Amino acid sequence: MNAIMAIDGTRGGRLPVKPAYGSPCNGCGFCCAAEPCAVARQYIPNHPVEGPCRAMEFEADRFVCGMIRRPGHYMRLPHDWAEEVIGAMIADALGAGRGCDAEL
Ligand code: SF4
Ligand code: SF4
Repeated sequence: MNAIMAIDGTRGGRLPVKPAYGSPCNGCGFCCAAEPCAVARQYIPNHPVEGPCRAMEFEADRFVCGMIRRPGHYMRLPHDWAEEVIGAMIADALGAGRGCDAEL
């Protein structure tokens, strides 16, 4: 198993251990810490192609995708009226809720 890079924002919180491929996502953050996904690379302005995703958010002892939760913030949109719709579209594109898709 590769080491997970240090990520700010956890405030010392303990992260869940990555589950097996195909198991329900537990928000361990391994996938998004290893590399930014295509959504992050394409829609977050000036996002590096390597390193942890800048949209990782930590809440209730797990990571959540900031691009699903508040895409306008990361995409630097001038208005937030479409936030919910865009977040839902991104969740669908990412396969949220379909289990862990990260292989070690
Ligand atoms: S998809 Fe897998 S590696 Fe990524 S946060 Fe969920 S459980 Fe962790
Ligand atoms: S945009 Fe969301 S799913 Fe993609 S790498 Fe960033 S936090 Fe992970």
